Amino acid sequence: MRLLLLLFFLSLFYSCETNEVEYAIVVHGGAGTILKKNMSDEMENAYIQKMEEAINAGYNILEKNGSSIDAVEATIKILENSELFNAGKGSVLSNAGIVEMDASIMRGDNLNAGAISGVTKIKNPISAARLVMEKSEHVFLSGKGAESFAKYENLEIVENEYFITQRRLNSLRNAKKRDSLTDNKFGTVGCVALDSDGNITSGTSTGGMTNKKWNRIGDVPIIGAGTYANNKTCGISSTGWGEYFIRNVVAYDISSQMEYNNSSIQSASKKTLKKVKDLGGSGGVVGLDSKGNITMDFNTEGMYRGYKKSNGDFKIKIYK
Ligand code: ASP
Repeated sequence: MRLLLLLFFLSLFYSCETNEVEYAIVVHGGAGTILKKNMSDEMENAYIQKMEEAINAGYNILEKNGSSIDAVEATIKILENSELFNAGKGSVLSNAGIVEMDASIMRGDNLNAGAISGVTKIKNPISAARLVMEKSEHVFLSGKGAESFAKYENLEIVENEYFITQRRLNSLRNAKKRDSLTDNKFGTVGCVALDSDGNITSGTSTGGMTNKKWNRIGDVPIIGAGTYANNKTCGISSTGWGEYFIRNVVAYDISSQMEYNNSSIQSASKKTLKKVKDLGGSGGVVGLDSKGNITMDFNTEGMYRGYKKSNGDFKIKIYK
């Protein structure tokens, strides 16, 4: 009897200590100079509603014991199909006035990954990245080859005009006037999910940066920079000034601190984002560890972000 009581109290203590959850999902819709004073109520509501729809789509899959890969793909597809974010429809425009998109996905159980870059016609780049991971013997396909692969795998192909919106045409015009690459608003989307089997998946999708030239590719399709997942540590999805995220190998740097130093996901994210800032870069990350602990950290004014956990915890936030 005493032994049973001891075991009961020990398990109670353990569950409080680790705050474990069965499944969880965390999402971002880009970081940057996102200030309340520049945001109409209507815009704010539109962002919150879309984030909520996307989080719930993934969460509903996790709740039915679905896989974190299905959850991440479903969530990101909703954000890609929305004009609000810099991914899929509504992506930013290159200097040539077209949309060129990058995406990647990674699973934490076997470290398999898929990525595509510089695609102009694939309606949902995240689905193409997943197919690279699951149906090809490669990790990373680019440009026309990636598009032929997507066609071969029967993904939906659209004309480039489908992705272009007036808002992004205006941003390109302004960026050209200033001759700059960034307006300090990054609208990339990303998602990390933990399923009831303990598997973590991370995914990220973007149109890159406004006014980009020379087939520039950012951090998003680079495994270890924009996206990383490992069941032993965490899953991470980044958003921000891609060049700085590549140079700091951001997503893998966070995972490595957890693997080699036993850091928590929050302190690891903080340290890595400080390195990004020290070099002159800006942006943020979302992620979760194998116990469902969440990070949503950034060194900008704001980041569209939110999470939902199987213990009922649910949050969506925009500003600092
Ligand atoms: N990280 C992306 C890139 O550099 C931009 C973003 O996060 O919006 O391509």
